[in-house]
Amino acid sequence: MMTHDGNNPKGGLSRAGSMDNGKGIADRLMEELHLSGKTIDDIVECLKQIPLHPRTAAAIRSAHALGCDLKVLSDANQFYIETILKHHGLYDCFSEIITNPTVMDKGRLRIFPYHDLTSMHGCNLCPPNLCKGIVIKHRKALSLGDRKVQYIYLGDGKGDFCPTLQLDERDYVMPRKEFALCDLVLKKSSLVKAQVHEWSSGEELEKILLQLINDNSNKS
Ligand SMILES: [Zn+2]
Repeated sequence: MMTHDGNNPKGGLSRAGSMDNGKGIADRLMEELHLSGKTIDDIVECLKQIPLHPRTAAAIRSAHALGCDLKVLSDANQFYIETILKHHGLYDCFSEIITNPTVMDKGRLRIFPYHDLTSMHGCNLCPPNLCKGIVIKHRKALSLGDRKVQYIYLGDGKGDFCPTLQLDERDYVMPRKEFALCDLVLKKSSLVKAQVHEWSSGEELEKILLQLINDNSNKS
């Protein structure tokens, strides 16, 4: 983790683009693609077409330069996320990618669940393959007592509500307006302890994120 003079906000960037409900659907889809003659290069080309707002990319670079420890927590998979981050030159901004692992098997991409499916994580808010709430809970337990560690969690999907519930009063959640996480945060606001900052565009995301980082750096 990069240290900072003051508080050290943690960015939990979670932009899932999820396609796996935890029962190996993504893995089966990869098999179908492989059988239909699609190569890894075809998949890579497709991933490179996914647009990333230039202000979002700039916000990631700035947060990293300001000393934040950035992590991706996503229900997509390792290969997709690495490919996209490397394509945009952002891979080195992140200290960790927490997601469903992948292996290349004779030209076919295999996707495995983050959690061992036989062990059952027991969270009914999340798909069996990944409970992001458990991940945040474990990370928080590791930094227990370190009052300088604060989280800024960005997300949009339904699967981002469980980890949002693990954040406390010192943390921030930045839900994307008009997406599932934002609806849940507004509907169940009594359950959310973190401070909520909604955003809708890349410009807004950048402005709010950098404001939060600067405000908290100056507080110490
Ligand atoms: Zn969960």
